[in-house]
Amino acid sequence: MNRNQELFEQARQLIPGGVNSPVRAFGSVGGVPRFIRRAKGACVWDENDDRYIDYVCSWGPAIVGHAHPEVVKAVQEVAESGLSFGAPTAGEIDIAAAINRLVPSVEQVRLVSSGTEATMSAIRLARGFTGRDTIIKFEGCYHGHSDSLLVKAGSGLLTFGNPSSGGVPADFSRHTLVLRYNDTAALQETFARIGDSIACVIIEPFAGNMNLVKPSAEFLQALRALTARHGTVLIYDEVMTGFRVALGGAQSLHGITPDLTTMGKVIGGGMPLAAFGGRADIMAKISPLGDVYQAGTLSGNPLAVTAGLKTLEIVQRDGFYEQLTARTRQLCEGLQAVATRHGVLLLTDYVGGMFGMYFGADKLPQSYDDMQHTDAALFKRFFHAMLDEGVAFAPSAFEAGFLSAAHSEDLVNATLDKADKVLAALAG
Ligand SMILES: *Cc1c(COP(=O)(O)O)cnc(C)c1O
Repeated sequence: MNRNQELFEQARQLIPGGVNSPVRAFGSVGGVPRFIRRAKGACVWDENDDRYIDYVCSWGPAIVGHAHPEVVKAVQEVAESGLSFGAPTAGEIDIAAAINRLVPSVEQVRLVSSGTEATMSAIRLARGFTGRDTIIKFEGCYHGHSDSLLVKAGSGLLTFGNPSSGGVPADFSRHTLVLRYNDTAALQETFARIGDSIACVIIEPFAGNMNLVKPSAEFLQALRALTARHGTVLIYDEVMTGFRVALGGAQSLHGITPDLTTMGKVIGGGMPLAAFGGRADIMAKISPLGDVYQAGTLSGNPLAVTAGLKTLEIVQRDGFYEQLTARTRQLCEGLQAVATRHGVLLLTDYVGGMFGMYFGADKLPQSYDDMQHTDAALFKRFFHAMLDEGVAFAPSAFEAGFLSAAHSEDLVNATLDKADKVLAALAG
């Protein structure tokens, strides 16, 4: 009896699509999602008690490994003292100080409960601070599901976007311009024409929601220079990359100082915690100091703050990112070597503990357009064959993958052995 199948059928009776977040439904790869019962270190076990080496890591948060004993113990201890107070706590100062020390551009920070809230609030703040309505995002970047951000590109460079979801008024999407990632010329032209009316530009500083796509140094430098010149707020959406690609986030690798930064995923260590912060003069516009309203009953929740603080403590230990990056490199170089051996066209790329796989690509994708030309059908076959072998990659060709500190050299080697078998079969 397959428990996953049985549970999926039950779930679909009560929960739309059987899931509480769409990509979990396996829509783009087909088949039955695994219902996870428990996780430990680098592995998850489903309701059949089948084990998977996990390269999803809860979509990023599980960077120290699932159910890390120190994180679990810390959360258990604070839970004894109450789950939520709706009043300030000392722990919030501790985590704000840790964020400020690790990511110095974040002079002041506000805690929220999801990445969506963080980006939505940061955009409202940028609009309130500048007194402007227009925002720019890049095609293929995901910043959560608030109305202004569920927008796809319009038909021309300066035509505003269209809603990419039902329920989003076209009037809202008219304030969002969608440009191509890494397209410096389009950015320059847009700023030359309407720069002084743009409230903010929001960017994933390594795009991880269209697989992994890296920005060029030229593009990032132009972005920083243009936004500074026009008084436009530059928002680095580091919900995925924060504490994931490096201790100081993508901004520390790029040497770029954004005006605002959003964080999530790793910062909560698996609990609902996210944050936005940055320049103190901009943050001073947020209520109760300023007139830009923002609030949350569970914001700064003591359990979430505790899980986050302990996770941030662990990632600061000696050699943490060196080891994480070495394991990620081992996986990526290994996969590429195995693919080459079997004549399968596959490229891989990585930064810190985050990686991309591009089937059918002969060069690394620079944009969403490039990603759309990769071989999603081949990815799908690879995905399912690996899952049958006990290796879980993200169930979409458009998602980045993640490793944790618990992904040992042996587990990565075991993954590569399975990939060898799978790619031999796919090539044959
Ligand atoms: C996951 C993600 C979000 C949304 O975070 P949620 O906690 O899912 O609301 C926003 N931005 C980026 C870059 C993300 O990867």
